[in-house]
Amino acid sequence: MSEALQSFDLTGKAAIVTGASSGLGHHAARTLAAAGAKVAIAARRLEPLVELEKQIEALDGRAIPLRLDVTDPASAADCVKAAETELGPISILVNNAGIADGKAALEVSEADWDRVVDTNLKGAWLMAQAVAEHMTRLGHGGSIINTASVLGLTGTGQVPAYCASKGGLVNLTRALAVEWARHGIRVNALAPGYIETDINRGFLNSAAGQAMRKRVPLQRFGTPEALDGALLLLASEASRYITGSVIVIDGGQSAAL
Ligand code: NAD
Repeated sequence: MSEALQSFDLTGKAAIVTGASSGLGHHAARTLAAAGAKVAIAARRLEPLVELEKQIEALDGRAIPLRLDVTDPASAADCVKAAETELGPISILVNNAGIADGKAALEVSEADWDRVVDTNLKGAWLMAQAVAEHMTRLGHGGSIINTASVLGLTGTGQVPAYCASKGGLVNLTRALAVEWARHGIRVNALAPGYIETDINRGFLNSAAGQAMRKRVPLQRFGTPEALDGALLLLASEASRYITGSVIVIDGGQSAAL
């Protein structure tokens, strides 16, 4: 294998994927494990994680399921500690846990707002802080990958808290990249467009969703596999000189007027 291809290899590295019980997080955990990483798979419900652990182990990978609520600082700290105890120093964090709102701005209650922003923005910050604390104390660097969205770069109706939280996450990515570069911690973001998962299946299959699909330059919605290349790039040494970046994976949707 060429040196360039070898730089994507994650053999022996320990990773945490938040929100691994379904959708993109579930897929990302399998992708990292297939590239050789030992993966702590974390979410609020343990049962789907135990199932995913079995799937990864069936492919000769290593995974440990951990209960995590990213909105709770104690839970975030416990998750990182348990992952490190079981797997060794954590060098990759995929901040993937997220929820969407789906209400007109005038109908969003304070509780709705807090739920979305606490999960998508505060949760990512709590996890990044907990992981970076370990990385700096142990003196090894690492890669933090925040799952933002094209809705963190552009706006649309009916998802105000989601757009605000993902926009905040994009700029948190840049701020942490600048501050933690001196510790060898790279911080980047993925900005997916519409990828069919539980979070959006209803909408994507509706008439409005299908009309939107026709406006995507590549004429289709994404699948979780569409994120694999960018994920492996950012997780591995192949991106050793990339930090503070946002990689858009949207079939060209945000490039079009
Ligand atoms: P999903 O609903 O299938 O997965 C979300 C995951 O986050 C689930 O595992 C859920 O249990 C977990 N989660 C939610 N709240 C949590 C909490 N408080 N603590 C821990 N885990 C929690 O949706 P998905 O489409 O796989 O979304 C994954 C990420 O990708 C989200 O951040 C989402 O905003 C982002 N994203 C998705 C799309 C898309 O089109 N699917 C596009 C852009 C960005």
